[in-house]
Amino acid sequence: MKADPVALAGESRVCPHCKATILKSSTSCPLCRHVLRFGAISTLPQSRPTTCPLLVEGTLAHPGDGDAREYFILLEIRDAGGKLLSRESVGVGAMQRSEKRIFSLRIEMTADAL
Ligand SMILES: [Zn+2]
Repeated sequence: MKADPVALAGESRVCPHCKATILKSSTSCPLCRHVLRFGAISTLPQSRPTTCPLLVEGTLAHPGDGDAREYFILLEIRDAGGKLLSRESVGVGAMQRSEKRIFSLRIEMTADAL
C-alpha cells in the first residue's frame, strides 16, 4: 500500500528528530531545523514562502521580593466564534529574584497547502 503524499491543509505529524508536532506539509522542522525526507527525492515538495503575520514579544521580571516564581505558558487557539480549538501548556520554568524572561509568540504561515 502506498502512502498518500498529499497533505491536507493543517494536517499534522510528529517530527522524527525532536518529536514536535509540525505541519505534514513541512519540508523541514521549524524547531530542530532538520530536513525531513519522506519518499523519493523527486517527490519532495518545494520549499514554500513563509510569512509571519503575528509576532508578540514581552519581557517579564521577577517582582523582586520573595522566593523564586514559577510560571507556565498556556497557549489557546480559538476560531472566530470563540470556540476553543486547542489548549496546551507549551513550557514551564522559574525565575529567581532579579531574573527576567523574554517570551515570544510567532505565528508562521505558508501561502497554501500542498
Ligand atoms: Zn524537529
